[in-house]
Amino acid sequence: MFLNGKRALVTGSTSGIGLAIARALRAEGAEVMLSGFGDEQAIADLRAELDATHVEADLTTEDGCAALMAGAGPVDILVNNAGIQHVSPVEEFPVDKWNLIIALNLTAAFHTTRLAVPHMKAKGWGRIINTASAHSKVASPFKSAYNAAKHGLDGFTKTVALEVAPHGITANCISPGYVWTSLVENQIPDTMEARGMTREQVINDVLLVKQATKKFVQPDEVGAIATFLCRDEAQNVTGANWSVDGGWTTE
Ligand code: NAD
Repeated sequence: MFLNGKRALVTGSTSGIGLAIARALRAEGAEVMLSGFGDEQAIADLRAELDATHVEADLTTEDGCAALMAGAGPVDILVNNAGIQHVSPVEEFPVDKWNLIIALNLTAAFHTTRLAVPHMKAKGWGRIINTASAHSKVASPFKSAYNAAKHGLDGFTKTVALEVAPHGITANCISPGYVWTSLVENQIPDTMEARGMTREQVINDVLLVKQATKKFVQPDEVGAIATFLCRDEAQNVTGANWSVDGGWTTE
């Protein structure tokens, strides 16, 4: 297994896309460190399933990010995946939600990256994978904070990619379209309200309207891309923003 001996930290890996990425990396032999919130027993079950450690930290704060990195120890593969969403017209957008989304979906990746890079440089190998979104490339209404954070994450990733390239480290984004996870399910009621739509209309006329495949992306499809990015064959894939969105952002 080609990731034997590599230590992978996946933020937001107690559910959804992050969990799928953690499972995919583990299947290739990586030692996995889980992070995120959730039911105590469910997390214990995941730890047992993946023979993983779990570090709980609130990544909306600088201290929380530092605690995560201190608890995780040296990291060879860093997956910045934790994220939240809020749907609201800009003039009504709660300021605290804006601050939380920017903190978690963008600033946390800066903190974990700056703390992880010295070890990667010392080893001459590293992989930084950031879960961005189709919303890092195109916008949708009522998601001002999320769109801003994800566009920012794309720019941050490109910059880091250029800086770390001489050290055997790559940095890339993966940008899914809609993946059926709690993050998507939870935004349906607010989207129904913001757009005056039924649940069915939100699913068909908002979520899947731009995905030409008319299918939700499956979390393990994202996991497979993350695994590929860790391969030696991907050593020249850096600064990329890899879409997996059913054709949503195809021009
Ligand atoms: P999810 O809700 O299933 O998972 C979110 C994870 O983040 C959980 O593990 C949760 O515990 C963790 N988390 C939440 N708040 C946190 C905090 N303050 N500190 C630390 N961890 C925290 O959502 P998901 O859909 O799997 O989303 C994962 C990533 O994928 C996010 O960055 C999201 O923006 C991105 N994404 C999701 C979709 C989608 O359609 N689901 C599409 C594109 C991008």
